[in-house]
Amino acid sequence: MSLQIIANYRKPYKGILQDPDPRLRKVSEKVNTVDKHVHKIVGMLISILKELDKSHLLWLGISAPQIGHNLRIIVIKKAYRDYQVIVNPEIIKQKWFLPAISGCYSLKGFYLIKSPYWSKVKFMDLNGKIHTETFIGGTAVLLKQELDHINGRLISD
Ligand SMILES: [Zn+2]
Repeated sequence: MSLQIIANYRKPYKGILQDPDPRLRKVSEKVNTVDKHVHKIVGMLISILKELDKSHLLWLGISAPQIGHNLRIIVIKKAYRDYQVIVNPEIIKQKWFLPAISGCYSLKGFYLIKSPYWSKVKFMDLNGKIHTETFIGGTAVLLKQELDHINGRLISD
């Protein structure tokens, strides 16, 4: 459950689907092989993040369904112009559930949500290598939003 605290803040960004587009509501499919198609989608996601990225922006991320591809692919900002590709993420454990203020490029405004601030996630990189990583703080909040996207959920739900 969430609460909209600031309405109509964000303008839609070119190429990012806006709610209520039905493609944002589908459960995305698992990536079986990292092929040309997957690389193309990742390339598009990274180029959008590069456009949106500013040095003062701490948390930035996007998921494949937001650009109309229902595949379990997420890209998050690690540092300025440094992005991490997360394929087929699986939540191993989440904790530290607290309120957070979040915005989403598929929605207008900001929302007060409840989010884990600690998440352990297993995922694949673009080389097919499996990783287990712990995300803490704002990055965990961001990751929760992106994990919701690939399951067809939005922070406004
Ligand atoms: Zn979002």
